[in-house]
Amino acid sequence: MDGRDLRRTLDIHAVLARAYADPRFPAPSATGDVRMFIVNAIWVAGIERVPDGGWYTRMCELLPRGSDGFWRAVAEDAPRFEPDDVKRTWGGPCPAPMVRRAACGKPGKIRVRVADPADGTWHYDWYCRKHEEAATAEMTRQQTLRATGVIPEPMPNRGGVGPSYLSWSWPEQYVRARPGWEPPSVGICADDWPVMERVTPAPRKPSLVALPGEGQPGDGYSGESPSLRLIIGDV
Ligand SMILES: [Zn+2]
Repeated sequence: MDGRDLRRTLDIHAVLARAYADPRFPAPSATGDVRMFIVNAIWVAGIERVPDGGWYTRMCELLPRGSDGFWRAVAEDAPRFEPDDVKRTWGGPCPAPMVRRAACGKPGKIRVRVADPADGTWHYDWYCRKHEEAATAEMTRQQTLRATGVIPEPMPNRGGVGPSYLSWSWPEQYVRARPGWEPPSVGICADDWPVMERVTPAPRKPSLVALPGEGQPGDGYSGESPSLRLIIGDV
């Protein structure tokens, strides 16, 4: 190992350490383990130096759920706005207004997606069967708001961590993993998003792109090939 190789190895270990410590990764779940995906990708591209044509196969060998784990992680990293309880499959307390108290409060069964016209963020309200009429009225109101285009695009609060570590055809892969996905106007990399309430560490901007295999600096990433590049920050 010459000095250049040693430097490169140290750089890659620094990137791995950043990935292990990065609080922006979601907790691993059945819907995908993004941190595991990125750590393995850094390993495959940076340490094993698997050539471009082989890294997908190698990733699927390494990831606990193979290609399923691969695509679930990509889907989970798709930049988007999503409320915290989006995976909840049944109701919260019914919000229908009541005469003697603020709201009905019974466990809801009818799900209504309610957007905030101020910033475009949304949540689900759950109406009970008794308040089906109120649910329908709210649904209609929401449809009208959407149709008139007054609801702005919400800032993403999920995903976009992968592009902080790896240069890849992310938009294309996000669509493949999550059909119908559309890129947020603030960009696909979480490093570039305005920080909301959440505490986010100051990202280290990439200053160097390490090429796996025998690539030379300058044979730039085209955005079309499935190749993958590791982004290494200042060390
Ligand atoms: Zn109710």
